[in-house]
Order: sequence, then structure tokens, then C-alpha cells
Amino acid sequence: MYRQLCNYFICILLLFVLLFQGCKTMVTCDSCNGVGKIICQICDGEKDYKIKEDCSYCSNGNTLCEECGGNGNLECQQCNGEGMTLEPCQFCGGSGMYFYPDGNGVSCRFCSGAAMIMQPCHSCGGEGNRECDECNGDGSIVCKVCNGKMYEIKTENCNLCDENGKVVCSKCKGEGKVEKK
Ligand SMILES: [Zn+2]
Ligand SMILES: [Zn+2]
Ligand SMILES: [Zn+2]
Ligand SMILES: [Zn+2]
Ligand SMILES: [Zn+2]
Ligand SMILES: [Zn+2]
Repeated sequence: MYRQLCNYFICILLLFVLLFQGCKTMVTCDSCNGVGKIICQICDGEKDYKIKEDCSYCSNGNTLCEECGGNGNLECQQCNGEGMTLEPCQFCGGSGMYFYPDGNGVSCRFCSGAAMIMQPCHSCGGEGNRECDECNGDGSIVCKVCNGKMYEIKTENCNLCDENGKVVCSKCKGEGKVEKK
């Protein structure tokens, strides 16, 4: 009698277990194919990803020309910006003296005997400055950091995924299996 009752209980128990399992059938997670992890969407599993960031160096793709300080021209080094240079007098050949055919020499009237005379600077044409060749006179140059694109591409290390570039599957919480619905 007691043994019969015991068997009966075991049968009931088995039935419950079967029923319980029946409504909680686990199937392989189709998101991760049962692995429990999926490739990180942020970095594509590469462990680093590129982001566009506004160029911190410029605001419009151009930067002030450092060579000329934005003036567009540079002080002529030949004449120190004066526009004129002291050069040997062409009339007396730089001697300061003018000699008559009879050999008598007088002080050159052209340079007043100074031998040197102020002349417009050859280098800058008397302007005192010359166009900055760094910026071609614009005063600004294309930003070297972003090449005028106004943004920088920065590589960020992805810290959302593991060393293999994978993250835990959100569908199965890493179990690899999900309940069949
Ligand atoms: Zn999964
Ligand atoms: Zn990642
Ligand atoms: Zn310049
Ligand atoms: Zn002279
Ligand atoms: Zn000059
Ligand atoms: Zn820039």
C-alpha cells in the first residue's frame, strides 16, 4: 500500500517535471547562435572606432598665418622694411669722386662724395615689405590639423567590449539559449 502510494507520487512528480520543462523549452539564441556573445556593434569588433570631432585648432578650416601674423606680408629683410637701401653710387662707381679727363677729381655731385646712395630696395621694389609666401598674402592658411575639413578623425579605444571585440548578447543575457515562445 505504502509502496503503491510512493510510486504514485513519483509519477505525479515526473509529470510535473515534464510539464514544467514543456512550457520552458530552451532553444538556441538566434542572435548569438548560442555563443552568448555577439560582435560589438560600436567598434565592429575592431576594438577601436573612429569619431569625427570638430577641429579644435580652427573654426572655419583656416588658421592665422604664423609666418606673417595674419598681415599677409612680411617685412623685407633686405631693407628692414624701409623700402630703401644704401647702394654704391652708380655715377661715381662707388668711389665718391668724379674725375675729369685731365685727372682732376672732384667730389661726386650725385652722391655728394658719400659714394653710397639711397635707392629703392631691389628685393621689395621700394615697398618695404613683400607678400608672405606662406599664405600668398591672404594672412590665413588652410588648417594643418584638419586640412580645411573643419573636423578631425579621432580613434577611440572601445571599452564596451571584451578583448575579442565582443559583448554579451542582450537577447539571451549570455546564456546562449532563450525560452521558446
Ligand atoms: Zn544570445
Ligand atoms: Zn567594441
Ligand atoms: Zn602669411
Ligand atoms: Zn657718387
Ligand atoms: Zn626691401
Ligand atoms: Zn582645423
